[in-house]
Amino acid sequence: MQTKMLINGEMVEGTGEPLDVMNPATGEVLESVSEASQEQIDAAVRGAAEAFEAFSTTTPAERAAMLLQIADVIEANSQELAGLESLDVGKPWPSAHDDEMPLTIDVFRFFAGATRTMMSSAAGEYVAGHTSMIRRDPVGPVAAIAPWNYPLMMASWKLAAPIAAGCSVVLKPSEITPLSTLRLAELLQDVLPKGVLNVIHGRGSGVGSTLINSPQMEAISVTGSPATGMAAMRAASHQIRLVHLELGGKAPVIVFDDADLKAVAETIRYGSYFNAGQDCAQPCRIMVADRAYDKLVDAISDQIGQIRIGAPKADGTEMGPLVSAAQKDRVAGFVDRARGTAQVVSGGAPGKGSGYFYQPTLIANVDNTAEIACNEVFGPVVTVSRFSDAEEALNIANAGPYGLASSVWTRDVGRAMQMTSRLRYGFTWVNTHGVATPEMPWAAMKGSGTGSDMSVYALDAYTAIRHVMVAH
Ligand code: NAD
Repeated sequence: MQTKMLINGEMVEGTGEPLDVMNPATGEVLESVSEASQEQIDAAVRGAAEAFEAFSTTTPAERAAMLLQIADVIEANSQELAGLESLDVGKPWPSAHDDEMPLTIDVFRFFAGATRTMMSSAAGEYVAGHTSMIRRDPVGPVAAIAPWNYPLMMASWKLAAPIAAGCSVVLKPSEITPLSTLRLAELLQDVLPKGVLNVIHGRGSGVGSTLINSPQMEAISVTGSPATGMAAMRAASHQIRLVHLELGGKAPVIVFDDADLKAVAETIRYGSYFNAGQDCAQPCRIMVADRAYDKLVDAISDQIGQIRIGAPKADGTEMGPLVSAAQKDRVAGFVDRARGTAQVVSGGAPGKGSGYFYQPTLIANVDNTAEIACNEVFGPVVTVSRFSDAEEALNIANAGPYGLASSVWTRDVGRAMQMTSRLRYGFTWVNTHGVATPEMPWAAMKGSGTGSDMSVYALDAYTAIRHVMVAH
């Protein structure tokens, strides 16, 4: 397996501490990858800073050509990359290849187009004898930090927008799942100019923290937990930096009694247990109108009973293991603490074997203020609770700290519009949940972050608005 990092155009082994990369399906060691040393982090940062000078002056057409080439390279190697992803994260093969690769690739193609549409306001004479113009320029080298749940797709979100904007990047994938990103780095070594892309490996508290605190990094972009988002904000506050954060979520799924309950239950099956529930937009907090409650709990329970857990490459596997032993213990802890006050309708126990499996779990009769209803579990666990009217549903959904994904299920268009206008979430689906496209923002509010990934709005995190005035 490819274990080298990409630092200023060179593929190099880390000279820091070796870290084991585990196979979540078996609990065995897959590979050992050494962390970047302090000198290697410095070299990556320096390389990005030097590369920025020339890269920031490339034309949109030049950057578009590079982004299109990146997409082509990923597409040509999608079997291998999806194989690494499936092995490293424990993803069922169809998820890793058929579901995730197309969006990973398309994000680069979208930003290849987006870079050529970047405009600022027209020039004009706002002071007599002077012409003002507004420029939108790349902000500087970017420190990018990615999580373990969709390593390659998150790397694509962290890379495509800054490259489109004209920024160089130092990317650190999660130390738990570095394999697909390290291979991507090797594949892209000659696609981008030296130093424009750097990929370093290591733990968040060491390598990640050093990176985001580096004075030469002029923007910080993190996808990860709220704790890491706070660390990024602290780092940014020391030297005043742009910060873009995509953090945790706890998506409410608000189901009215006129909703298509079969569609809700099917969406829960495919959306909530996809990636073993390790998804920031996971439809995990089902809130149901009193009159539909019993019917929906039965329908979801029936769907969950059909999910096949198994090895990522085994035929018919719908759900694989969790990413790590720690994540499995964390999920089990949430479920065990909920048992006293709620009803575990299905699942609620580890899966068989030495891998980090946990059964798809449904917990009903959950109080809307219970820990399991309010906190991000990030595993194959769905809760169901009740509400009596739209106002109550809105109050419950808007009360929590998170503001990422949400959905509303009703046949009444007016009610759907009222709900969507008042939900304080970065995105809200109506009668569906989880459908993403690069043209639309993956937007965060409240404790779920700042700004957006994907869409033209993602460019805001990597560009600065500037005023240039010319005296006649
Ligand atoms: P995490 O915060 O533990 O780790 C994410 C990354 O941050 C890793 O690369 C890690 O090494 C690094 N990191 C940790 N501490 C750091 C520090 N002090 N300084 C710099 N880097 C540091 O998160 P995770 O467990 O990998 O991912 C799960 C979390 O990510 C969940 O909360 C999930 O909701 C969130 N997530 C959000 C989105 C989104 O788009 N909003 C997408 C995927 C995942």
